[in-house]
Amino acid sequence: MREGIGVRGCGRKEPVVTIDGPAGAGKSRAARELARRLGFRLLDTGAMYRGLAWAVQRAGLAAEDGPALRELLARTTVELVEDKVFVNGRDVATEIRTPAIGELTSALTALPPVRDKLTPLQRTLAAPGGVVLEGRDTGSVVCPDAEVKFYLDADLETRARRRQEELADRGVTVDVAAVREEVLRRDRQDMGRALAPLVKPSGAVVVDSSGLEPEAVVRRLLEEVERVRCCTRS
Ligand code: C5P
Repeated sequence: MREGIGVRGCGRKEPVVTIDGPAGAGKSRAARELARRLGFRLLDTGAMYRGLAWAVQRAGLAAEDGPALRELLARTTVELVEDKVFVNGRDVATEIRTPAIGELTSALTALPPVRDKLTPLQRTLAAPGGVVLEGRDTGSVVCPDAEVKFYLDADLETRARRRQEELADRGVTVDVAAVREEVLRRDRQDMGRALAPLVKPSGAVVVDSSGLEPEAVVRRLLEEVERVRCCTRS
């Protein structure tokens, strides 16, 4: 990280960058690469929520707000260490990447105690700056004061195809119609919930990644971050 530069008004040396958008828009890959090139920390907020969902599934609880869920949340710790996720000290980075955990996560993240547990933690991790947050509410709720906000989108066909390829890479064969349905269901849940719904955050730069190579997406994001860094150097 470079020394001697400041981000206007907030005392941070490096900006907070947020990337929100729907499933399959290419956020994870773009966020990881952007963070690597900037030398910033990556906060995959979806992975943190997936970690909680893993704990809920393991405890055999339903996705509903009640004493059992609150008690489980109170005794569950979630940590991000580079690209690994630890839940109560156990590395669950691989186990959280199943469609079942994805569905459960989407249902759980509509519940107040679930968001109340992770939002403050994410804010604390982001506060020093020099971080890229990736998720559904990082520019709207977690860090509305972020210096650079992106909303990464793509058309439905592109998102379904990417999701299908991602599953195929993990040895899971699913036809594209089923994947399209899954993506649409997730969109409805994430955009339709009352609490921290997926929205284009105010002031966000919208990038449509349909038809763009991953490298072109990262370059577009980098360009914007560098522009803001240049304008805010003190
Ligand atoms: O990005 P990923 O697919 O890992 O996220 C899983 C689910 O977690 C999303 O569908 C969404 O419901 C939820 N999520 C959220 N807020 C975030 C990140 C993820 O509600 N900041």
